[in-house]
Amino acid sequence: YVGDNSRTIISEKVMEMKVKDCKSRPIVEREEASVYDTIVKMFISDVGTLFIVSQGGILQGVVSRKDLLKVTLGQGDLQSMPVNVIMTRMPNIITTTLDESIYEATKKIIEHQIDGLPVVRPCEAEGPNFGLPEVIGRFTKTNITRIFLELLEGD
Ligand code: ADP
Repeated sequence: YVGDNSRTIISEKVMEMKVKDCKSRPIVEREEASVYDTIVKMFISDVGTLFIVSQGGILQGVVSRKDLLKVTLGQGDLQSMPVNVIMTRMPNIITTTLDESIYEATKKIIEHQIDGLPVVRPCEAEGPNFGLPEVIGRFTKTNITRIFLELLEGD
């Protein structure tokens, strides 16, 4: 039984946490890559979602396991089809930032029924990418599960 007091302490602890405290490194693929190479990359990197980027790491889209499964049911040639024709693309990507609270980021995952969010920041490099969303991390259900475990263990 968690008394009212400790419940407050636990939720206060979570409310203070930000995405930067528990994010993972991003796994990305180039938008010109083939669907085939993207599937291989997903297996090798052991993630369920890949972020698709253009030159300079700028976020262009997301591909999930089911996006890739779906395209393998079709007739297309996976070796020649670029991943950017099947990805969910900007501006429809739900993102988070280093300073967003875990609470807000978790709400986005639940509300949009997705497994994770790319962590982005405005690109600082001078030139055509300046100000565009650069992928710098990922925040997923696994990160949330890890936080949950740490709370249970009183970390
Ligand atoms: P799966 O499709 O393998 O169950 P998700 O539930 O994460 O994995 O993805 C569901 C759909 O939402 C997919 O079409 C995927 O491209 C898309 N998607 C995944 N993450 C995001 C995101 N952060 N923003 C917008 N769309 C996303």
